[in-house]
Amino acid sequence: MAEWYISVGGVRQGPYPTAEVQRLIAEGSIPPEAHVWRDGMVEWQPLSQTEFGIPPLRPPLPPPMPYPAMQLSPPPPQSMYPCRGCGRPIHVTAAACPHCGAVNEHHPDYSPTDKRILIAFVLCFFLGGLGMHRFYVGKWGTAILMIVTLAGLGIWWLVDMIIIATGNFTDRDGNKITVWL
Ligand SMILES: [Zn+2]
Repeated sequence: MAEWYISVGGVRQGPYPTAEVQRLIAEGSIPPEAHVWRDGMVEWQPLSQTEFGIPPLRPPLPPPMPYPAMQLSPPPPQSMYPCRGCGRPIHVTAAACPHCGAVNEHHPDYSPTDKRILIAFVLCFFLGGLGMHRFYVGKWGTAILMIVTLAGLGIWWLVDMIIIATGNFTDRDGNKITVWL
């Protein structure tokens, strides 16, 4: 194993094995301006030019953050939205505004349709055999088919009523009708 001599300010130390030199460097006992020599080297060399090359005292600092860094980070998940009716903040889980009753368009079940369950249900209940609830939501084709088939001999009529009441009936554009009033 190589035995190293160390020269600090003209004072010679050593010899030390390689591991000991590394340890002394790590604990700061050997200053960066020290010179070292071992058998086989032509002359003393600065420590930094040998295999012990002194690493920077501190890791380089990251470049400064650009000023708008805070604004670039994604916003936290939003749970409050302004009501479209009165503008007051309402929670995303509220189906309707507790202040003015407007439908909460940010609710997971919100549907952009303006059709209402109650109207469709009443129409279906009394006039389902004439497909009136399907005319109401704009499904004219199946409404006429319903008249022709006598509401599927009553079964289709019953099925539609259940689908409407459970909030799964859709309008012409495929939007679920989820609001009662
Ligand atoms: Zn409101």
